[in-house]
Amino acid sequence: MKFRIFLPFLIGLSIAFLLYFLFHWWGFLVIFPWIGFAISLGNIISRTQKGIKKNIGRKISALLIMPCLLLFVPIINNENFQLEGVALIVMAGFFGKGFIHYAIAKIFGPLIWGRGFCGWACWSVAIFEWLPVKNNKKKISDKIKNIRFLVLIISLLLPAFLVFVLNYDVRRDYIYKQEMLWMFAGNGIYFLLGIPLTLITNDTRSFCKIICPVSLVMKLPTQFAAIKIKTQGANCTSCGACNKNCPMDVDVMKYVKGNKPITDSECVLCNDCKHVCPHGVLK
Ligand code: SF4
Ligand code: SF4
Ligand code: SF4
Repeated sequence: MKFRIFLPFLIGLSIAFLLYFLFHWWGFLVIFPWIGFAISLGNIISRTQKGIKKNIGRKISALLIMPCLLLFVPIINNENFQLEGVALIVMAGFFGKGFIHYAIAKIFGPLIWGRGFCGWACWSVAIFEWLPVKNNKKKISDKIKNIRFLVLIISLLLPAFLVFVLNYDVRRDYIYKQEMLWMFAGNGIYFLLGIPLTLITNDTRSFCKIICPVSLVMKLPTQFAAIKIKTQGANCTSCGACNKNCPMDVDVMKYVKGNKPITDSECVLCNDCKHVCPHGVLK
């Protein structure tokens, strides 16, 4: 087994110790090694499967990470990692651990691993991906995808309205007091919207494409990501399996034809295109 399969675990350990020395919170020593372990394990499981079934490793990895981010951190630290909650504390000038999560997973981290968080660690998709959907999803139009911009505006205006218009006392009432409740309420709404949407559209990523404002936050840094899916166009037989199986509807073949790495900001590094390519074109 190659050494690189353990890299996610080693990277998780390194980030954990770095953050522990910087911020002196023991929780980092649990969260990041656990995330790294789950990804390494997912990769090991993936290797036991063939074709599209390889994605079971990633799905198990996301399921293992989910309780760590959705339950352990909010409960132990009484924090809200939702975009709206982080916007609220930042507007109050408090750069707590919710902000650190955002900075690592969604702003600076994507400069290295693109939308790897979306592919491997998102607690919403960790559920959506296990729902019983039929294999006949239709491509969602760009017009409908623009709904995300509206959600993003609401997600930023709502905390601004609370802080600057209603004079909501974030430090007294919210930070370490009501944060966790808001986190669970916010996620509850996301699951209430996302589960029916997934079942209606037969698309495990329809929530990402239509509603989730986080996808937009990650688009810019993802453009500069160091880790991308690479292509070796010469071996391609234009079978179309990569395009058909991409959960984010990326036009993989366009990049293959141009012999270019996949730079589409919708790519979540799930590796499904790699798994289904019969000729090892995608690396
Ligand atoms: S776009 Fe949003 S819901 Fe989809 S995987 Fe990324 S963070 Fe999760
Ligand atoms: S391009 Fe490949 S790695 Fe990216 S989202 Fe589509 S299937 Fe996943
Ligand atoms: S799956 Fe592979 S061979 Fe088929 S079109 Fe995509 S890159 Fe080409």
